[in-house]
Amino acid sequence: MKIEILGTRGHIEISAPGHELHSGVLVDNVLFDVGEREYLDRRPRAVFITHLHEDHAFFVNDEEMDTDIPMYGPERFGGVSAIRSTVEVDGMRITPVPTNHSQRVRSCGYLIEKDLGRVLYTGDLYSVQERYRDRLRDLDMVITEGSFIRRGGLVRRDPDTGRPHGHTGIPDLVEFFSPIAGKIVITHLGSWFFSDLQASVRRIEELGTTAEVIVAEDGMVLEVGLEA
Ligand SMILES: [Zn+2]
Ligand SMILES: [Zn+2]
Repeated sequence: MKIEILGTRGHIEISAPGHELHSGVLVDNVLFDVGEREYLDRRPRAVFITHLHEDHAFFVNDEEMDTDIPMYGPERFGGVSAIRSTVEVDGMRITPVPTNHSQRVRSCGYLIEKDLGRVLYTGDLYSVQERYRDRLRDLDMVITEGSFIRRGGLVRRDPDTGRPHGHTGIPDLVEFFSPIAGKIVITHLGSWFFSDLQASVRRIEELGTTAEVIVAEDGMVLEVGLEA
């Protein structure tokens, strides 16, 4: 599988060269998240959206969305169909892995399998829903989010419902995925990242112990499964 990280900037005002575009990952001809309209110009065979926040689905607030490209997400919206089980596109098996993130919208990551390669793209989350965790093992690569460098990230509770929402920290994600993944790629970088780019990259990459941890840049290309 050829993996192209199209955009690495979180839902923030600030940006920097190499981190200007919002979420999007192209795996061969299938797109995961569409944080920028221009990603559709790549003419993917299908689009899988992790959740209906604007930095992952540019059209949720106001933009007209008419496309003949099939779109899937954790819940129905406009031309987006709700995904409940594995979908096959172009020899690729795509399985939703429900996550916890927002109290307003549903969210899921996607397990992407092709040939012998297994990749997980999580989108935003504070955790993977417990009963789906057994879908996650023997991963070649996890692409996950970097909103917060501090342990625990930022998870708030709604004062009325008591329900949590937010993002966990990069150290928690690295700890969770290290036993099951060879490589962890951090994207969706939060504002903390931009004060000193080189130092921030080092802080993230130093978290790697058994798994290699790297920081994505807009346009970065990675390969999985070729030399298996
Ligand atoms: Zn986001
Ligand atoms: Zn979000």
